[in-house]
Amino acid sequence: MRKPLIAGNWKMNFTTSEAVEFVEQLVQASYDENVEKLICVPAVHLSELYKYTKTAGFELGAQNMYYEEKGAFTGEISPLMLKDLNVDYVILGHSERREIFKEDDHMINKKVLSAFAHGIKPILCCGETLVEREADLHKDKIKTQIETDLEGVTAEQCAEMVIAYEPIWAIGTGRTASSSDAYEIIAFIRELIKDKYGDEVANKIRILYGGSVNPENIGEFMEIEEIDGALVGGASLDVMSFNALVNF
Ligand code: PGA
Repeated sequence: MRKPLIAGNWKMNFTTSEAVEFVEQLVQASYDENVEKLICVPAVHLSELYKYTKTAGFELGAQNMYYEEKGAFTGEISPLMLKDLNVDYVILGHSERREIFKEDDHMINKKVLSAFAHGIKPILCCGETLVEREADLHKDKIKTQIETDLEGVTAEQCAEMVIAYEPIWAIGTGRTASSSDAYEIIAFIRELIKDKYGDEVANKIRILYGGSVNPENIGEFMEIEEIDGALVGGASLDVMSFNALVNF
């Protein structure tokens, strides 16, 4: 049985004082213990938020990191720095990183390997553009992303990580993939994992859907056994909405 994971991706939102106020409200609600709750926040908030999330059973994640431990990489954050702040998860390969900051699969692969080397679980994002979907190239795109991003990852590591299928055309647009499309691609990703690592790993790895998930539509996705949770942007920025998502 895979434990469902509901992960908020705050992106570049909230000052630290706003973040503290938000989390103080968030942790007051009661939650189903069978659901793992995670918030991925801007790195500047991590040390301040840890004391609130730790006691409330929330996991804390980062949204990006560089793969080197230290050095002349102005503006970057290293896995050592994240680990020192008790970070459990890091989102890697988000489409905004790929598209705006031009990260390619080779760089993402180095980041994935570095996260594992430092005991941080990657949430690896993959997904196609609308043009790729309309040209029926979406599976090819996802296959290339998964194969390249996971090069050198061991079976043991793969079983512990999370993959998020996020069609780019559904992110922040209010337009979701249908639950059957999400199912189809998530099953396809699990099949790729099975081909590479075998049944046991494929049955263990959690694969989420992301892209305009909100309290109204989360139920549709979560009733599909193959879908292990959601990576949520916009709807994770409101306390009531995030509570509703976690208690889907
Ligand atoms: P969205 O973002 O829920 O606002 O579409 C999802 C994501 O980018 O992870």
